[in-house]
Amino acid sequence: MCDVSRREFLTAGAAAVAASAKAPSALAEIGRVETVAGEVYFHEGDLTGKGHCNNGWIVFEDYVLVIDANFPSGALDVIPKIQALTQKPIRFAVDTHHHGDHAYGNQVWVEKGAVPVAHTGVVEEMKRYEPGRWNDTAKTRADVKSSRLKAPSVLFPKELFFDDGKHRVELVHLGVAHTHGDSFGWLPGERVLFTGDACVNGPYNFVGDGDIEQWIKTLDAARKLGAKSVCPGHGPRGDATVLEDQQLYFKQVREKVGALVTAKKGGREIGDAVDRIRGELEANKRIARYVSAGGIRSHVEKVFTELTGQKLPVPAKKTAAERRRHAHQHGLELA
Ligand SMILES: [Zn+2]
Ligand SMILES: [Zn+2]
Repeated sequence: MCDVSRREFLTAGAAAVAASAKAPSALAEIGRVETVAGEVYFHEGDLTGKGHCNNGWIVFEDYVLVIDANFPSGALDVIPKIQALTQKPIRFAVDTHHHGDHAYGNQVWVEKGAVPVAHTGVVEEMKRYEPGRWNDTAKTRADVKSSRLKAPSVLFPKELFFDDGKHRVELVHLGVAHTHGDSFGWLPGERVLFTGDACVNGPYNFVGDGDIEQWIKTLDAARKLGAKSVCPGHGPRGDATVLEDQQLYFKQVREKVGALVTAKKGGREIGDAVDRIRGELEANKRIARYVSAGGIRSHVEKVFTELTGQKLPVPAKKTAAERRRHAHQHGLELA
């Protein structure tokens, strides 16, 4: 524990007490505030139960900057935990991308006096998909139904820096990845990287709105930053190997599907090979945690489409689960 977090431990509320009860080396637990560095925090959201994403926040001299707006209920979960650590106003909430579990909470932050901030691509993606997805999601989520879609209004085309001399956060768009509007939050002083869903740590990759070939290149750029600590969009915090493993998973999927395409195998044969590919990926200890029964087929299909422009034949049981995945509610995806 560093000096700053020790001081906060002495003055803050229940959330910080819970945070300090664990050994500093322990990785985050769901719902627990973790001190990543001085005045830099990470919170793993309740994904399976509530569909929440992870959050990060940095306490600047005059304000708090939050990484990811979460769903409205996720924002309401994390706001008291921030306020237990600091009385400074929450001024900025960054949408790392346009998905509901990262951006639908914007209105909640606005009501707290904050401004939603994002890469320009987030607004472009919202124009593409909204308000259709919001309306779909509102049918199953009371928190969305009782809030409103609020687009980010401070936008940056490439990068935006927050720097008060003590803390520096660089919001950077490094290319297409999970979506066409992903940004990373890079703290060069602490070598901490907040990734949104451009990097997850577990079986949470949704590929519907992105491009896996470009995603691999974007992860190269992210790796070059030299992060010591990686705070993913879903799953626990880790070190630089999380970025490497996430990238390796996609490289392996591309390699395996690519080999079949090169061997002139058609969509039906590749569709039939999904279970074998899944087994091979699960056998690799570094990336086994990225394999999910629900996700693997969509990952294989995405690569196949990128390589050939074709779709896999629709399996007989493509149904509600696929549609939910389209709506990008990771929690349901896991069910
Ligand atoms: Zn996402
Ligand atoms: Zn997400």
